[in-house]
Amino acid sequence: MDEKLVPEDLRKAYSAKAILDLEKEFVIPGVTHYYENPLLLVHGEGATLEDSTGRKFIDLFAGICTTITGYTHPKFVATLQWQIERLVYTSSLYATVPYAVLSKRLAEVAPPDLTQSFIVNSGSEANESALFMARKFTNNPYIIACTHAYHGRTALARELSSAGWRTVPEAHPPGVRFQPFGKEYPECDVQCARYLREIIRTQTNKAIAAFIVEPIQGVGGIIQPPPEFFQITHEIVKEFGGLYISDEVQTGFGRTGDKWWGIQHTGVIPDIITMAKGFGSGVPIGGFLTHPKYAEKYTTTDSFATFGGNPLSCAAAIAVLDIIQEGNYLQRAMEHGTYLKKLLKALKEEHKIVGEVRGQGMMLGIELVRNQTTKEPATQEMLQVMELCKNEGLLIGKGGIDGNAIRIQPPLELTKEQMDQAYQILDKAFTIVEKNL
Ligand code: PMP
Repeated sequence: MDEKLVPEDLRKAYSAKAILDLEKEFVIPGVTHYYENPLLLVHGEGATLEDSTGRKFIDLFAGICTTITGYTHPKFVATLQWQIERLVYTSSLYATVPYAVLSKRLAEVAPPDLTQSFIVNSGSEANESALFMARKFTNNPYIIACTHAYHGRTALARELSSAGWRTVPEAHPPGVRFQPFGKEYPECDVQCARYLREIIRTQTNKAIAAFIVEPIQGVGGIIQPPPEFFQITHEIVKEFGGLYISDEVQTGFGRTGDKWWGIQHTGVIPDIITMAKGFGSGVPIGGFLTHPKYAEKYTTTDSFATFGGNPLSCAAAIAVLDIIQEGNYLQRAMEHGTYLKKLLKALKEEHKIVGEVRGQGMMLGIELVRNQTTKEPATQEMLQVMELCKNEGLLIGKGGIDGNAIRIQPPLELTKEQMDQAYQILDKAFTIVEKNL
């Protein structure tokens, strides 16, 4: 490649300060970064990231649960280069090889009968489209989402993303209802799931368009309801004629271990699966998978998106599927996740700041608390832990409505050695922070 053809402005060596100064001047202030002194990341390999000073970091967050195949995987890079040299873009008004091949490949890994795919650009758009299709199919406006859920930033997806994400005073949107979440399983007898019937009977016209749920809540702080929650809600949703949507934007593509989709650990077969993030391992792509009988109602005008199904994103996603299959990632996520969770549980035994360790596969969470009994959220301490970890070369994610859950959702390329190092760094950070509790 002739590097001189790349715009010089892009090739120049920048310091973090120089880039942050540019951002301050030209980027809206709402775009913020982690850390007091934000990192300028310039390169990555496997599950390791490198900043502009050449410092390396173990990446436990994959951007936001996205770079599932890690950074600069040879097959991923080669596929993108190959496709770029042929056709970066044309719209879905024309047939292309990548869209059709990707759809076939998705059908091969989808739960039974979810053979039809629609490709868009992001998780929000995937959910928006799936919900629209459900409303159209059922001719009913009501959608029920779970509290603490996150489904995106577009108008409807935003309204489904728990009150904590509302930043302007708005009336509760019509047609949206919320399902509460209990935490004291199994003593609770999954009453929260059974309560769905009450919500439908008392707050809707006794019919719904859809119930949308994450198999493990990501942004909400790695909250994993038991399988019964899904089984009971599925039965109720079907009783009232709704479609069951599994939002697999975070849990998809093997992240939860052993299975392609998080919902497959619950025994429920959903009507729609929505996906994004790991789907393109960093290249923007989203979409949904559904049954032909629902897809049939979705017409041309409902399904057009300028960039949706573009050849470059679809080619990237095909490479991702290959890499997952060839690298045995499903099994690897389960094995590594079990190993890592054991280490995190050991941290819970040793540290009073650790309230709970949650999740499965490569989707794990540590809830930080100021008090083990009251579970008072350790929100400030979380920020300190993040800084301390970063200083030791470890990047972690943050989640939960109180911002006190560590999110561990790394590239599936993460090695055992990196997990051992992560454990040591977290151990050290907790020891320092809990001195002030
Ligand atoms: N659903 C879930 C479960 C998510 O976590 C997210 C993003 N965090 C979305 C939907 C929205 O995806 P996007 O940011 O790609 O629009």
